[in-house]
Amino acid sequence: MKISSLLNLLLPLYCARCGRVGRAMCENCIQELEKDLENCCIICGNYQKGWLCSGCGTKDSFAFGFYDQPIGLLATSLKQNSARHLALVVARLLADTIPEVRAERVVITPVPTLAKHRKERGVAHAEMVARELAKLKGWSYSPLLRRKSGSVQTGEERKVRIQQAKMAYEVSDKGAGKLADFDAVIIYDDITTTGATLAECARLLKAAGAKDVRKIVAARTR
Ligand SMILES: [Zn+2]
Ligand SMILES: [Zn+2]
Repeated sequence: MKISSLLNLLLPLYCARCGRVGRAMCENCIQELEKDLENCCIICGNYQKGWLCSGCGTKDSFAFGFYDQPIGLLATSLKQNSARHLALVVARLLADTIPEVRAERVVITPVPTLAKHRKERGVAHAEMVARELAKLKGWSYSPLLRRKSGSVQTGEERKVRIQQAKMAYEVSDKGAGKLADFDAVIIYDDITTTGATLAECARLLKAAGAKDVRKIVAARTR
């Protein structure tokens, strides 16, 4: 075991929202989070209840809430400290809120993190949430996408980010072989700014043969 993960076990955990010692998010704050929901469209940020956005007409995406709401704080702390408990909290909240997917064989796949980041933090947070969500919803979990090596995403503008996303991801050979086994594919990421990465991942999966592709994120920036 790495020294950093050993230290994480020994150090007390603090609630990411109120600072109380005990868990990465205390029960009280989880309840507050549930009250504070503002589900929105990944693309335009419009308030949204089901899969359909009345603002821009997008039919396949869902954001749990905004980045400046407690869910954003939760997603950020998950990025920073990758506590399994936090991943469970996010997954539980999402499981209760995601609109129904009317398909029989559903698979969830995380937006892949750079291998370098994964190495630094020891674990991929989006992967943890996607795995927990799969368990809660009775979906399959499979990493269908992968990062091309050497790709970075640093652009501010949506146009630039779309261009970068186009070069950064690909459907893995193993993933492409599995697509026929599922009626619907759900792509998950913790945080999105422009939705460009998710849109590109969806495009790749469709090009590889996926029929029904949906996108969900925990938090969207305003
Ligand atoms: Zn708390
Ligand atoms: Zn919209």
